[in-house]
Amino acid sequence: MAPVPDLLPVVSERLITLGGSGTPQVSEFAATELGHHLACGPDAAAALLADALDLRHRLPGLWQRLLDGEVDAWRARVVAQETRQLSVEALEWVDARLGETSRSITGVVGQLVAEALRRFDPEKFAQREAARLDGRGVFVERSGPAGVGVTTRVAMVLDTPDVAILDATLDDLATVHAALGDESPLQVRRAKAVGTLTNPQLAMDLLAGDLTTHATSKPTGIATPSKGVWGRSAVVYLHLDACDVTNHVRDGSDGGGRIERLGPATLDLLGEWLRRPGGIAHDGITLRPLLETTRTDSISGRTPPEWMREQVILRDRTCVFPDCTRDARSSDLDHIEPYVEGGPPGQTNPANLAALCRRHHRLKTWTGWTYRRDGWDPDGRPLYEWLDRHGNPALPRHLLEPAGS
Ligand SMILES: [Zn+2]
Repeated sequence: MAPVPDLLPVVSERLITLGGSGTPQVSEFAATELGHHLACGPDAAAALLADALDLRHRLPGLWQRLLDGEVDAWRARVVAQETRQLSVEALEWVDARLGETSRSITGVVGQLVAEALRRFDPEKFAQREAARLDGRGVFVERSGPAGVGVTTRVAMVLDTPDVAILDATLDDLATVHAALGDESPLQVRRAKAVGTLTNPQLAMDLLAGDLTTHATSKPTGIATPSKGVWGRSAVVYLHLDACDVTNHVRDGSDGGGRIERLGPATLDLLGEWLRRPGGIAHDGITLRPLLETTRTDSISGRTPPEWMREQVILRDRTCVFPDCTRDARSSDLDHIEPYVEGGPPGQTNPANLAALCRRHHRLKTWTGWTYRRDGWDPDGRPLYEWLDRHGNPALPRHLLEPAGS
């Protein structure tokens, strides 16, 4: 055996952690050796090992779909990286949701991570939200290729509700500019509208429909823009658990809430948005809290009342046809057991209603497809069993056998 040089410390090969919590440790030289075989650097090999360990040990559902060839490896790796900070418990929840979604897993993973943090680690969720809020600002690029000349690039990071109002207001002002004779493309008029907003009185005049003193040519007929001074009115739906609200008032704990189409947010932030002068409750956007979702009473007429419609939309969230992602709010409400004119009372009730987009509503009405409610998933969303016109079950894609097996 060759003598060990005096100055070289004698240590054995160590074990290091590359993946998220719950993954086994690996030899400190594993990445270097793998990198050699794959002809890539040790850092790239370490990243590959970390993703593989996470998928194998933390995301068993996704790992199986990867082995079955149902998902692309690069998408699975994105999910592994996005979810590395999550606890094992939160990740189990995300893994199950990924198995159910019919949308691209890389498209939904960000929202799922946020929702999982809100549910399983409210403290980290609040910290993450605070860090994102600290990143708000309006950044003017005064140098670089886009920063010199007749136009200048501006980047803004704003509260999402403010963006919704700004976006709608720019559309409104662009419409007014068109009515005043501006024939530029929409985006150019929206850019000019930002200039208009720097003169608040002018903007208010234009949005209030006072075009006469500003027209360079005879105003053409247009729809009067928007209700409210600062843009068209919109309703933002906020989903709250009554227990979370009670706890927040009692002891300050913050279980957060979920805003439709936007994602989860802490109750502290939602409160700040509501109270801020000129904030979302001031004008333009109405925040509608939704607490009551469990009524079961029925009516005799065919058309459901507003509360019932709202309840079914919140419960189903999307059209209930397998894999259809059309928003329930823009769908029809279908009587699962068909409504019979002059039939027994109480045919219209939440249990007998489901959201169907127009396409699938017509399919069910005209072709003999049928469905029935078949239990509930762990999130309280109803499950439906569909049969095609020949009586064969129509399964969502994630339950279908992979082709060729
Ligand atoms: Zn549909």
